[in-house]
Amino acid sequence: TLVMEGVSKRFDTGTVALTDVDLHLAAGDFVSVVGPSGCGKSTLLRLASGLDHVTGGTIEVNAHSTSYVFQEPALLEWRSAIRNVELTGELRGVPTSDRRARAQEALDLVGLTGFEQQFPRQLSGGMRMRVSIARALVTEPDLALFDEPFGALDEITRLRMQTELQRIFQLKQFAGLFITHSVSEAVYLSNRVIVMSGRPGRVVADIKIPWDYPRPPELRYEPEFGA
Ligand code: ATP
Ligand code: MG
Repeated sequence: TLVMEGVSKRFDTGTVALTDVDLHLAAGDFVSVVGPSGCGKSTLLRLASGLDHVTGGTIEVNAHSTSYVFQEPALLEWRSAIRNVELTGELRGVPTSDRRARAQEALDLVGLTGFEQQFPRQLSGGMRMRVSIARALVTEPDLALFDEPFGALDEITRLRMQTELQRIFQLKQFAGLFITHSVSEAVYLSNRVIVMSGRPGRVVADIKIPWDYPRPPELRYEPEFGA
């Protein structure tokens, strides 16, 4: 689905953010990237998404739809949750006739059934992040890119979201590339953890974690917001 070979990135400012990065991602892979601040993780994701271009090496993306989840949910405040999700559907070519149903399905998947009509300011940080993930899912991506999506969440919400993302991934089986500062999050979610380091950033370790490797017990998923 995604093949990077010998990728480097030099910005116009002269900063070299990445050097000689090889990365292969196939359907069914959920790969986490960890590494210190400034080692080029976000740059790597932007290159994978096509938001920016490489200055060395090659990148090949074989996906009919790629979705990107930013650290900040960036929802439109004047649109309800479902209208936020529908807008992404509209922008990304989901046919009008399917849009409402697909948006509803995406919100159901992230556990927001019953909250469709709420406006972003009425939602908690975790719920806003759920809307953001629903927005990514509505395009039915085969490649999903996550840039520290849970970084700003409290620990309990974060654990719930990890469990939930894991469940959605097992269901949908897209290829995932997930940036995090948390090694335990990386190990919990992924079948491979890539460690980056240095300036410019490079891959210093690429560790396989088979799906049957025992993970810490999952936090049972229960919506934290009742009637
Ligand atoms: P963090 O963990 O803090 O998010 P990161 O690993 O995501 O860090 P990047 O944002 O990819 O790091 O930045 C890598 C390097 O590239 C940094 O030195 C940064 O200053 C530089 N950089 C990033 N974007 C640009 C840009 N648009 N123009 C110039 N330099 C940039
Ligand atoms: Mg970053």
